[in-house]
Amino acid sequence: MTSANRNPEIRKDTINNRFVILSPARSRRPSDFKSKSQPKPDPNTTQSSCPFCAGNEHQCAPEIFRLPENSDSGWKVRVIENLYPAVSRDDKVKPECCVVNGEVSVGGFGFHDVIIESPVHSVHLPDLEPGEVAVVLLAYKKRIQQLCGVDSISYVQVFKNHGASAGASLSHSHSQIIALPVVPTTASNRLDSMTEYHNQTGDCILCNIRNDKFVIDESTHFISIAPFASTFPFETWIVPRYHSSHYHELDEDKAVDLGGLLKLTLQKLSIQLNDPPYNLMIHTSPLRIDSSQLPYTHWYIQIVPQLSTIGGFEMGTGCYINPVFPEDTATILKELQLPNKK
Ligand code: AMP
Ligand code: ZN
Ligand code: ZN
Repeated sequence: MTSANRNPEIRKDTINNRFVILSPARSRRPSDFKSKSQPKPDPNTTQSSCPFCAGNEHQCAPEIFRLPENSDSGWKVRVIENLYPAVSRDDKVKPECCVVNGEVSVGGFGFHDVIIESPVHSVHLPDLEPGEVAVVLLAYKKRIQQLCGVDSISYVQVFKNHGASAGASLSHSHSQIIALPVVPTTASNRLDSMTEYHNQTGDCILCNIRNDKFVIDESTHFISIAPFASTFPFETWIVPRYHSSHYHELDEDKAVDLGGLLKLTLQKLSIQLNDPPYNLMIHTSPLRIDSSQLPYTHWYIQIVPQLSTIGGFEMGTGCYINPVFPEDTATILKELQLPNKK
């Protein structure tokens, strides 16, 4: 059975406490879900004018570190300050909470960094070898560990925008990290849901997530799935098969393993959907959760191809209409053979 033959179904994402309407009436056949030709983020940017290319380091905001450490021109990954940060790393901006007439505000202190994933302009994340993707993943880890040392930082969001309609302004492969003095609502809702599941079952919800209908691929330590209540067509999660609350617990071996599965997943989405714009988010636990919460909080990666725009219903309800059943996404992506794997 494909999405087009199914009845509509309202499913609950119990991890994020939100509903989705899986609606085949609004479906096109899954194979029709190809990204149309996208406007490139920066069509006028050439290698010589791209600040993220090797050789143009002086055009960037200050570097925080590079990997390998102490490499001169031979760097693989650079972590730099964002030239146009959303929050201020100036410690004169105090992250103090102010409540006036019930209106709450906090000083906009925080960190907004950019991770340049390759020195070469045309090389994108899935073009890298698993060990090279691991260097990017370990750069995230190292930066999060540094940010953990800042007392007022409560949450760290790692994210990647690829393609103009996914919010990217530069096409050179990069991701970003924003560290905040507050825990954003999606993260605190997730924590509440994981706590509730644990109270009811005694288990960690993501340790229990395995259901073969939704599995796409597996590696030694990770699994890729189309989640049961996928909010978006072809939404994919990569979940550690071992229990872990915080992304920054990732070790080098697991980073290489994750690098391979992330590469495979991005390659499959690119082939199936014609190099779609996408967003990638690492959903980790708030930095300073109580040790009693560690047994049931579990990080994961969410990848969302941007194939549709949202409308008033979604804005009004927070409930999305997804025309592609995740069972079909899982089957399509599981069966997809990569050309170089034949
Ligand atoms: P995106 O807009 O998602 O493609 O992310 C690119 C980020 O790089 C944006 O948040 C920009 O503020 C930032 N950016 C642009 N130019 C520079 C630069 N020369 N140095 C550091 N960050 C930059
Ligand atoms: Zn470049
Ligand atoms: Zn778990």
